Amino acid sequence: MSDPHLLELRRVSRHFGSFRALDGVDLTVRPGARHAVIGPNGAGKSTLFGLVSGTLATTAGTILVDGQDVTRLPMERRVALGVAATFQHSSLFLRETVLENVLLAVFRAGTGTRTGIGRVRGGRRRASERAADIAKAHALLERVGLPTGHRTPAAELSHGERRQLEVAVALATEPRLLLLDEPAAGMSPAETARLTELIAALPADVTVLLVEHDLDMVFELADTVTVMHLGRHLKTGTPDEVRASAEVQTAYLGTTEASS
Ligand code: ADP
Ligand code: MG
Repeated sequence: MSDPHLLELRRVSRHFGSFRALDGVDLTVRPGARHAVIGPNGAGKSTLFGLVSGTLATTAGTILVDGQDVTRLPMERRVALGVAATFQHSSLFLRETVLENVLLAVFRAGTGTRTGIGRVRGGRRRASERAADIAKAHALLERVGLPTGHRTPAAELSHGERRQLEVAVALATEPRLLLLDEPAAGMSPAETARLTELIAALPADVTVLLVEHDLDMVFELADTVTVMHLGRHLKTGTPDEVRASAEVQTAYLGTTEASS
């Protein structure tokens, strides 16, 4: 029987010492959702993403992906189940070219390893497999709107282009659940508009969980919005319900300017 939720958090907590960064959060994400998580800085949004992607260990509670308990699974096993993340702090290889970054992600996805860039270059893969990887990398670059031919190091990309590259790297694993942590941070309005289009154009079988400060982007993209505050789940609803909520106004929307 298939689970109605692609992602489910049950009473999930993460403590740092005596500090409760996340405190008993319940959350469900349905397949195909464009689900945004908002809340003031320090609300626990990135911590929540870390727990779902597996970069951070959960202190208490249960995380289910498609009904399967992943709470104690390492990140690689979650990737195999279709969980992919881009992080608030970039995880690109800046000295490598744009193509090599995507190629490494494709190679890792194809072999189920976390191998380094050296092995991708080292030509240990059969020529036919390597050609297929390159074709796939080109397709991913095209999909995120980056030029496929050039040999630019990732370090030379603009901020917006780096974010596009991060999305390509995440998509290389063919995720069912894509976690995006502030993808529009530091982007120009034009870059944000392009990224919004890119996310909106993702196929419906890629479920998106998005943390974003740019509320215009949130309200344009999201069909479901969760508001967090001080490590707790405050409200989940449609964009209209969240906008209209007095509780949310007080806790977040009214304080956005002051806190970010
Ligand atoms: P958000 O992404 O919503 O801005 P975070 O999840 O990054 O919030 O952080 C939530 C709270 O947890 C913050 O108060 C932050 O200082 C704290 N925190 C996050 N990571 C750590 C850590 N590694 N050690 C100690 N405190 C942390
Ligand atoms: Mg954050």
